[in-house]
This record gives sequence, C-alpha cells and structure tokens, in this order.
Amino acid sequence: MKILENISLAGYTTFGIGGPARWLADAASEGQIAEASDWARERGVPLFVLGGGSDLLVADEGFAGLVLHVGLKGIERDGELFHVGAGENWDEFVCRAVALECAGIECLAGIPGTVGGTPVQNVGAYGQEVASVIERVRAFDLTTREFVELSNVECGFKYRRSRFNSSDRGRFIVTRVDYRLRQNGVPQIAYQDLKAHFAGWATAPTLADVAAAVRSIRRSKGMLLVDGDPDCRSAGSFFKNPAVTEEVAERVREYAESAGVPVRVFLVDDGLVKIPAAWLIEQAGFAKGYTMGAAGISSRHTLALINRNGATAKEILALAEKIRAAVEARFGIRLEMEPMMVGFA
Ligand code: NAP
Repeated sequence: MKILENISLAGYTTFGIGGPARWLADAASEGQIAEASDWARERGVPLFVLGGGSDLLVADEGFAGLVLHVGLKGIERDGELFHVGAGENWDEFVCRAVALECAGIECLAGIPGTVGGTPVQNVGAYGQEVASVIERVRAFDLTTREFVELSNVECGFKYRRSRFNSSDRGRFIVTRVDYRLRQNGVPQIAYQDLKAHFAGWATAPTLADVAAAVRSIRRSKGMLLVDGDPDCRSAGSFFKNPAVTEEVAERVREYAESAGVPVRVFLVDDGLVKIPAAWLIEQAGFAKGYTMGAAGISSRHTLALINRNGATAKEILALAEKIRAAVEARFGIRLEMEPMMVGFA
C-alpha cells in the first residue's frame, strides 16, 4: 500500500479547508486497514480515519500523522439485510434501497458522506436515524488489533451519538455496516417540512417520492451538495440542536413570547427539551447570509457555517465562537459544535 506524504486535506473535505496530512493512505480492503494502522503504530504517529469528509473541520496546520482514507466498497444483499462497505457513498446506497422499494432510510436521502460515518454519529434527519436500521457494524479494533462485529445494542446508539464518537472514540475503524430495511415498507412522513410538501396529494407518497422530497427540501436549504453552490462549502450543520432542562426551556419560551417570535420545541428522552439551534442563533443576532471576513453563515440555513472564499479554519472557528458567545449571553445555553475537529491542539 502506498503511503503518500504532505497531501493537502482541503480537497478531501466539503468545507474545502485544511492544511496537509503528513502521511495519507487509501485503504481499499480490510487487509490494508490493518496494514496502515500497523504502519502508524510502529512509528508512533497518530492516526485519523477519513470517510467522506463532510463533517470535518481540519486545522490550517494540517494533521501531523497518518490520515487513513477508507475506500472499502461493495453492497451485498441478503433478503432485507444489506452488507455495505464503509467507503460506499451514503446517498447512492439510499437511492439503491429506495429503487428496490426497501424502507427505513428514505428520509436520509441527500446526506453527504460515506456509509462508514453513519453509525459514528447515528446520522438522522426528518425523524429517521440509522440506529433503527443498523443490525451490525464490522470494524477494526485498534486496541485488540482484531476485526470485530458489534450488534446494534453494542454500538450504544443515542441521539446523534454512539460509542464510536463517545466512550470509544478513536478505537474502531468501521469497515462494513449491515442495515436491515423493510421490503415494501411505508415511507415515514413525520416532520412538518415533509407534511407540507405532500399536503393536498391525492395518492399516498411512495418511498421514491419521499426521498425526492427530502432532496428538494435539502437543496432549498443548501444542504444538498451541488457543485459551485457557495452555500455548500460547509460541514452541514455546524451546531447541534441543544437538549436542555425544562427550566431552561421555560426561559426560552418566556423570551419567545415577550419578543413575539414563536419557537417550536420538542420533548426528547430523559425529559429534556430540544430547541432548534437555528432559532437561538437568529435570536442572538445572526441572520442567514451573515459574513465575517471569508467565513459566513449560509444564505439558506442558519446552522451551516460556510467557507465563502478561501476561509481558514481559524476564521471559521472565530465566527463559531462569536455565535456561541452571543447565544450563551442571551439564553445561557452553550451550543455544541457538530463537526469533528482534526489537527487542533
Ligand atoms: P429542521 O427540520 O428545521 O428542524 C429543526 C429542529 O426541530 C431539529 O432539531 C429537529 O429535530 C426538530 N424537529 C422538527 N420537527 C420535529 C418533529 N416533528 N419531532 C421532533 N423534532 C422535530 O432541521 P434542519 O436543520 O433543516 O435539518 C433537517 C434535518 O436534518 C433535521 O432532522 C436535522 O436533525 C437533520 N440533520 C442531521 C444531521 C446529523 O445527523 N448530523 C446534520 C444536519 C441536519 P431533529 O434534529 O431531531 O431532527
């Protein structure tokens, strides 16, 4: 396997930002995954596993270790169970499942990135999340140096979380994900955006209709990767939607009422209340299209910070901090950043 040196990472990310990887390897098989990780271990250099690069902010200084680009391909079908290589493009897999009339991921259409990234943050949108269809995850365990197969329960899925991005962060390299879909299942139409899209339809929308609707809604928000669209030079949502205590939510409701700006909040597990981060950001004084040098907020989605024209990671972080400070000052809520940070001290 070839180990390349000093390769710019900007082109590997949807943000288009980031300095060089000291070393970079492309792994197309499980054998190469093990080989590359041995190479890094023998030299004592840090390892970073790169998938689709859609949820990353890479430091301007780059990454002083080995970046392992996971390119494992292949989709095998066994009834309703799909074994999918971690390097497969996620949206292409969604298209394939929808075309085969298999339900369970139609609302996750148009999400950038690779299959291997989906269990890590339990990707979800429009009321669906991969945790509800993942049966098993195959991965290389960097601690035991063996390939393991983890059941759904062993993955520890929670809202936008799993053991892969929490308790066992950095321990596993996902090589394959097994999804159990529902042949001829009905599509999920739970969110307001989707309900509004289908209002007035005389016939029941199919899986393909729902996937197409999600794509068009995402496109309208600049959340579908389209070449040349400046609102797409981002890492998607830069902030997580915070889940707060009822007491904090009550303060937010009081503010909304007194300011005459209604807010829709949602009850989540553990009695917490989910508040749209986009609403908090707007109320803290940042509108869509806000700019700060070469960094900015998407003109179509308040949650997406964008690289307007040659922004550095430092500039993106400066804008993120400004937004966080303003939201915290107004609501006492500290927004969490969603993208993975690579190469920062
Ligand atoms: P949106 O549809 O404007 O929704 C804003 C917020 O309201 C989100 O927190 C969403 O929850 C919540 N919400 C809306 N309708 C709801 C309902 N019926 N029940 C419960 N909660 C509801 O959000 P957006 O920013 O344009 O994003 C569209 C979708 O893509 C959202 O589902 C969002 O979470 C998802 N997304 C996911 C990721 C990721 O997986 N990392 C990244 C970007 C966007 P939820 O967040 O729970 O859906």
